[in-house]
Amino acid sequence: MDSCMQVMPNRVDLGFDQPYRNLGSEFFSAVRPVGLPAPRLGMVSADASRLLGLCLESRRPAIDQAWAELFSGTTLPAGCEPICTVYSGHQFGNWAGQLGDGRAHLLGELSTSDPTQDCGYARWEVQLKGAGRTPYSRHGDGRAVLRSSIREFLCSEAMWHLGIPTTRALCLVTSSLAVARERMETAAVVTRLAPSFIRFGHFEHFSYSGQHAALRRLADWTIARIDPACADAANPALALLQGVVTRTAQLMAQWQCIGFIHGVMNTDNMSMLGWTLDYGPFAFMDGFDPAHTPNTTDRAGRYAWGRQPAIARWNLLALAQALLPLIGEPRVAMDAIAAFEPQFSQAMRARLQDKLGLGALQDGDDALVDTWLAAMAENRSDWTLSFRRLGSLPAHVDSPIPDALQSLFTTRPQPFRAWVADYRRRLRQPGLADAERKLAMDLVNPRFVLRHHLAQHAIAQAEAGDFSAARELMAVLRYPYAEQPEHAAYAAAPPQDAEAPALSCSS
Ligand code: AMP
Ligand code: MG
Repeated sequence: MDSCMQVMPNRVDLGFDQPYRNLGSEFFSAVRPVGLPAPRLGMVSADASRLLGLCLESRRPAIDQAWAELFSGTTLPAGCEPICTVYSGHQFGNWAGQLGDGRAHLLGELSTSDPTQDCGYARWEVQLKGAGRTPYSRHGDGRAVLRSSIREFLCSEAMWHLGIPTTRALCLVTSSLAVARERMETAAVVTRLAPSFIRFGHFEHFSYSGQHAALRRLADWTIARIDPACADAANPALALLQGVVTRTAQLMAQWQCIGFIHGVMNTDNMSMLGWTLDYGPFAFMDGFDPAHTPNTTDRAGRYAWGRQPAIARWNLLALAQALLPLIGEPRVAMDAIAAFEPQFSQAMRARLQDKLGLGALQDGDDALVDTWLAAMAENRSDWTLSFRRLGSLPAHVDSPIPDALQSLFTTRPQPFRAWVADYRRRLRQPGLADAERKLAMDLVNPRFVLRHHLAQHAIAQAEAGDFSAARELMAVLRYPYAEQPEHAAYAAAPPQDAEAPALSCSS
């Protein structure tokens, strides 16, 4: 456990700003969180704490208890006036009307920042998830169960260390409060951080309800917060849309290449920042199946891995429509959307080129990449292991294919061997030494991702009151691209008898 006490003060009495209130009363409800009975700090991200200049694991019980009370919403510092924001959205392709923060409380924002984790934002919104009902809870209880809170906590930090834009997780607070889902579970609160939690759905809300003055204020606010250069554009709302298109295209290329399936890409779960937001029934791909979704609620496979880029475009179209009253001209909005496909394809191609260690693009590379992906799909080869182990393939034509790699392609080995021959021929071109190519490929092909069976193991232990497995998993996921030979077990595919991820929206 990191102790930060020597270098950072224990600042439990934080001064939160709440500038979102200035947008106007139609944007939020002021709600105090209910909190948790006898809250305890279950997990802390030392990296996210450092981002805010905080020391959450002070090893001084009274102070750590005060953190647990604050980050469960049980006891708030003077002057902290939490709000819940209103948004709407399209869920599974249908207009769902008003939604809003049904179990999220925005405590406010803090402005300290850690230059070693700089991502260009110095102000961080601090949001509790699961601290009680809000005016937007509808039939929900305002709670989040420990199981889903651990998944969100671990995955957001894991994604950050993979280099994929995401909201962060500061800490996880637990309690014995019982909540009913398919079975009885216990409640937890995750504290999330982001420069902005504004979703596509916030814009849809004000646009489709005809509140166009509010829509303009929201656009100005979002531009000032996340993309200030848009303010100088001839059409700022169009520039905002263009920026979201670009960021979302990049994010989709990153998700696809890491084998991440979000599971619920509704417009209310899409971030204007282009960051990964709302971890529900997500999964990292084990055996490659483009049609796979871990979300059992999604029977049609709308949000399957292979459909994510098209769904992102669909969601951007909904955003463009919502912004039309500000953009004015439908044709330029459509042009902005048309830019998604080429930007995504280019980003995806560039990443795959790097993942295969091919260097500069050559004729025939597209076919080589497509054939590799087809071989992986035919063999249901493990996504993460296939790319990682390909890095250890000797380029020389007479060298045997390492067993570890060949063993991932046993269903149809012949087309795979034919592909290896083509690949080796192609590798003569960058002409890198094997070790050099492996080094470059290892930097983009992680060894460790938050596999479902690893998360399940950590959750089972945590539900029994022991967070050591979850903490160790988090420590491994901090360096996903490193070899970490002592942690080889965390790199393995799920055991044969492991259940495939089957998750619902119930969390
Ligand atoms: P999600 O499918 O998790 O993105 O949630 C969709 C909407 O339902 C959002 O407005 C959430 O805030 C709300 N929601 C989800 N779970 C709960 C819950 N347990 N209590 C209250 N609101 C919830
Ligand atoms: Mg959501």
